Amino acid sequence: MVIVKRKILSLWERLYLPEVLRGLSITFRKMFEPRVTRQYPEEGLPTDGVTRGQPRLVVKDDGNIACVSCGLCEAACPAYAITIDGQETDRFIEREPERFDIDMLRCILCGFCEEACPKDAIYMSNELELADYTREALAYDMEKLKRPASAMRERMDYVKKINDRW
Ligand code: SF4
Ligand code: SF4
Repeated sequence: MVIVKRKILSLWERLYLPEVLRGLSITFRKMFEPRVTRQYPEEGLPTDGVTRGQPRLVVKDDGNIACVSCGLCEAACPAYAITIDGQETDRFIEREPERFDIDMLRCILCGFCEEACPKDAIYMSNELELADYTREALAYDMEKLKRPASAMRERMDYVKKINDRW
């Protein structure tokens, strides 16, 4: 049998006043320290090249989509979130997607599509917010996924930098 010796509390200790005063002093001190709470969504989350937000398709400076509809990202996607139908073009690059959908409800933001792409055509953007009223609205088609290369530049440069290490 284990006998637990309890400490006999004095009257002052039994009033819990020291603990209350200590708690209040901590609260008072914290009132003058810099705030760490972010007022989201009014205050956006900070992003940079490392941010792995939702995947987006790159539109080149000539206005054409960089994707050649090879299907590698579709095959690499572990969530089966990507659906692509290709079509022929009369440009030097012979194929482009006729349909390129990403079901954002399935996407787990893993970045495998970005890694699989041989044409620098899909990158993880700095877009983090995802909310809508219906499931259908979150199945993004090509028009919703397209972004100019300039908007993706920070992430593209970051990925190039880490790939150069290998
Ligand atoms: S980030 Fe991952 S889950 Fe999302 S579309 Fe790309 S490969 Fe699929
Ligand atoms: S891997 Fe790249 S080029 Fe191939 S289909 Fe996907 S986005 Fe297009």
